[in-house]
Amino acid sequence: MEESIACIGCGVTIQTEDKEGLGYAPLSSLEKESVICQRCFRLKHYNEVQDVSLTDDDFLKILNGIGQTNGLIVKIVDIFDFNGSWLPGLHRFVGKKNILLVGNKVDLLPKSVKHKKLITWMKQSAKDLGLNPVDVFLISAHKGIGIPEVAEAIDHYREGKDVYVVGCTNVGKSTFINRLIKDFSGEDDVITTSHFPGTTLDMIDIPLDDDASLFDTPGIINHHQMAHYVDKKELKVITPKKEIKPKVFQLNEGQTLFFGGLARFDFVTGGRQSFVCHLSNELNIHRTKLENADELYQKQKGDLLQPPGPKDAESFPELVSHEFSIKEAKTDIVFSGLGWVTVNEPNVKIVAHVPKGVGVLIRPSLI
Ligand code: GDP
Repeated sequence: MEESIACIGCGVTIQTEDKEGLGYAPLSSLEKESVICQRCFRLKHYNEVQDVSLTDDDFLKILNGIGQTNGLIVKIVDIFDFNGSWLPGLHRFVGKKNILLVGNKVDLLPKSVKHKKLITWMKQSAKDLGLNPVDVFLISAHKGIGIPEVAEAIDHYREGKDVYVVGCTNVGKSTFINRLIKDFSGEDDVITTSHFPGTTLDMIDIPLDDDASLFDTPGIINHHQMAHYVDKKELKVITPKKEIKPKVFQLNEGQTLFFGGLARFDFVTGGRQSFVCHLSNELNIHRTKLENADELYQKQKGDLLQPPGPKDAESFPELVSHEFSIKEAKTDIVFSGLGWVTVNEPNVKIVAHVPKGVGVLIRPSLI
């Protein structure tokens, strides 16, 4: 059996192959007496947490570990991918612990979106998914919006105990923790990594005061994220970088919109009306007749309809249709990981097509 080496910082098993994976350390570091993983190394020397991902099984192990501790859980989600960035099993491990739900990337929302409505929807959705957060916040880790408020809430709800920050990869968890470290550590040297007492939890320990720490857990890969179906370059196209500019389309029934080749919106029945698309400004929206849409997709996926690019078009999962009969005026059709389309009028039939596994749902409009 191969001898395994544990990181002296977080206790994770060291590996030298996968740079983005948990426990990576360069081969040369193995010669040293005590080995530290890259993630702990960055925290120790640059006061910065690094984004690493781990498998479902490892994540369950970590959740189990958190389940047995006492403290506050801070769960980060991407507001453009609320469902795709949800951690389905989390509520089973929360027990009586307080949980704060933090929606990141609020800088991308157009001004027309009411933050209060988004928070109400997040609270309700969390409840429906079995989680009862003590509070919900909207932040931009990137721009620093809402950070002091969350920091204050963390300090209040942790009641002197430890804090565990959890989230899927790509929600901005590292950016958030790095922001907290920079804004609140003051001195340069306060960050150390130390072994979590008792069990190996693969968590990085960031001291808050003499008795308590903030733990960064690695991010789990959620296989329902749209992000996993496109390559890195394409991810840049679908991930909004700047405030979203809503795009309005006047459609007659029997018309279809393609969002690149990633998703499709069919306006099946209802009078001529406008639909407002809230998607990355870079994502190409293509309008066509519903009756031609299937054929167009077959011919143009990876070409006119990109992303996916020509290389990924073959392996891209098939689109699955979801039908919605919308009764209420002002309803959003939410395409997980892409954005949403606001339907203004009542009594409309829509069919939304998304890659198999990706979520699509409706909610009251946020406007
Ligand atoms: P992690 O995998 O959860 O640790 O996520 P990262 O911190 O690495 O961030 C993932 C991506 O989201 C990166 O491209 C970040 O630049 C971006 N990001 C993080 N926070 C924000 C934010 O507040 N606003 C925007 N627009 N992008 C963000």
